[in-house]
Amino acid sequence: MNNVETSSPFLPLPDGIVISSVRGATTELVVHIACRLPCAACPVCQQPSERVHGTYVRTVADLPCGGRRVILRLSVRKFVCGTPACPRQIFTERLPDLVQSYARMTNRLRDALVALGLATSAEVSERLAPQLSMLVSAPTLLRRLRTVACPPAIRRYASLAWMIGRGKRARPTGRSSWILRSAADRTSCC
Ligand SMILES: [Zn+2]
Repeated sequence: MNNVETSSPFLPLPDGIVISSVRGATTELVVHIACRLPCAACPVCQQPSERVHGTYVRTVADLPCGGRRVILRLSVRKFVCGTPACPRQIFTERLPDLVQSYARMTNRLRDALVALGLATSAEVSERLAPQLSMLVSAPTLLRRLRTVACPPAIRRYASLAWMIGRGKRARPTGRSSWILRSAADRTSCC
């Protein structure tokens, strides 16, 4: 599929972002997308700008589709800020509904992996994710889990399960001991 310039029910995107081409392989889909909104607001002074300074391509992993990994090639625009006194003369357009700045995966893929990590553990998720056409390392998922607002016991469980999987020692006491035993049970049967 080439030059479709549209969205797709199989790959919903925020308003203003369109698909320009899709290339399929056996295990992955590479989807080229771009934002077509006419302007973007400077993140410092909030002044909208239509002056495009240039573009670059950013690679972001997305939720799988039809059992294949989805790789987004996102064409990102740089704009010139028109406010003379603004310290940010050049700024990059933000697409927070799709992906956070500097993130390597979309918001929805991040949320799916976090849900997987909370339901199992970081270690189990690392092994299970490829079977679901997703990729994540246990340390990366652990860092993400630590930022999620969830009960401390669940975060502790995910961390302990990962330590057990790596053969590292933990010092469980009290309730942590119970969590550790639960983690050991879960990881030993996966
Ligand atoms: Zn500005």
